[in-house]
Amino acid sequence: MADVTRKDLVHALNSAADLLDVLGSDAGGFRATAYRSAARSLDRHEASLDELRESRFAGVPKVGRGIAAELMDYLDTGRFAPLDEAAEGVPEGVQGLFAVRGLGPKKVRTLWDAGIDSVTRLRDAAQSGELAAIKGFGAKGAQTLGQAAQFVLDAQDRFLLPQALQAGEAVQQALAGAGLEATFSGELGRLRDTLGGAELVLSGDPDAWAGALAGAAGWEVREQGADTLSGRFGGVPLTLRRGEAGVGFLPFDEPEHAGLDLPDPAALIQVQDIQGMLHTHSVWSDGTATLREMVAGVRDLGHAYLGTGDHSQAAAYAGGLTPARLREYIAEIRGLQAEGLPILAGAEVDILADGSLDYPDELLAELDYVVASVHSGFGLSAADQTARLVRAASHPLVSILGHPTGRLLLRREGYALDIDAVLEACAASGTAAEINANPWRLDLRWQDALRWRGRVRFSINTDAHSVAGLRDIRYGVMMARKAGLTPADVVNCLDMAAFKAWARPEVSGR
Ligand SMILES: [Zn+2]
Ligand SMILES: [Zn+2]
Repeated sequence: MADVTRKDLVHALNSAADLLDVLGSDAGGFRATAYRSAARSLDRHEASLDELRESRFAGVPKVGRGIAAELMDYLDTGRFAPLDEAAEGVPEGVQGLFAVRGLGPKKVRTLWDAGIDSVTRLRDAAQSGELAAIKGFGAKGAQTLGQAAQFVLDAQDRFLLPQALQAGEAVQQALAGAGLEATFSGELGRLRDTLGGAELVLSGDPDAWAGALAGAAGWEVREQGADTLSGRFGGVPLTLRRGEAGVGFLPFDEPEHAGLDLPDPAALIQVQDIQGMLHTHSVWSDGTATLREMVAGVRDLGHAYLGTGDHSQAAAYAGGLTPARLREYIAEIRGLQAEGLPILAGAEVDILADGSLDYPDELLAELDYVVASVHSGFGLSAADQTARLVRAASHPLVSILGHPTGRLLLRREGYALDIDAVLEACAASGTAAEINANPWRLDLRWQDALRWRGRVRFSINTDAHSVAGLRDIRYGVMMARKAGLTPADVVNCLDMAAFKAWARPEVSGR
């Protein structure tokens, strides 16, 4: 049986619909509509994947007998036949256009008809003016698409930090088994937020390295030179280079660090300095664990307390809480507190288009702390977006500004924004700027944190949606170290009582 998730099913249905729409026959259009509504229905359906399999999708609205049979095949074989069939009719380069933000089936078809059949072609057509001349695009649209295409091209062959780090650590371990000590270098030695691969230095000769790695699962040799050995580990390009091992990670080795007066690396924040795991999600919104399980997860990792952070009502797609549900949520948390569990009541409250918040002040005041985040309206002008975030950061009941730039590494750029004006507002109002530790985000960027260190306080948060997600804290701490932060700069290094007093000075009288 193939390892297919519900998300995979929904994705396969939608992708098949997209390709059928690109192919665009009448019959295809009808099927595309059917697949799309099946995807929407399946996404919302309550039953677990096991129950769906058991019942062969009976009772799922919009999933008729034909689609149910195709989905059952997918569960058994790991292939969704309608998607494979449609994909045969659409060149791979054209399929790649779906990765560009702002392109749906209709526009992809128009581009394909105009001979623009790959992301590279799209970027070039945007630059040459060819794209702007195609009906339905225009100069502004062509410019935006050109940038989005360039973003996709830049992201190709790049990896997130955990992928490169895991490859580097696995190879390090295999080498250590043969008595070889290897140290991260290059982009990995600098813990870049995205990397082209992993590089390690060590002494000895490539024959010995190759021998030590010969049996390691996931390792493929590509090339052996006089001083180098390169290959791939778990898909990540990896190079071993002869050199001086033992220097280790260099926190201050980027151009941005030049000439700055930085703390002694021994004073920099470490994972064990984080006491409060703030901005976390639970089954109350789109997380997978109960509040009790999240508290246990936090304690198992050696941290002191959990700060909840489920979504507010505007994030309906993520099960955001209505005011009534928020009150029930707070009541459950107060109950857990009464049992002696180390938990604080917080919420991740949406920042609305005008910079106001998704709950009235009297409701926000019932929480122990508030994270305010943008989840919509990414297309605002830089001036409007900045004003919106400044207003939210200046709200007296906002404790932390969540993932301030909205970037998703290798997927999308952050929204247009004057980040310095926003951090200025954080400094003025005493709001902490989040360093979101999710490896897709790492937002705030460490470069901005470095520039504002000493003027703004920060909060390093996992934004975990599961117990396992709490482990992402290490990536946030890595970025904070690059930013030169010490525990004194980070509000969740405070113990629970001190954090509460910091977040709600009007309550504690400070
Ligand atoms: Zn968020
Ligand atoms: Zn969140």
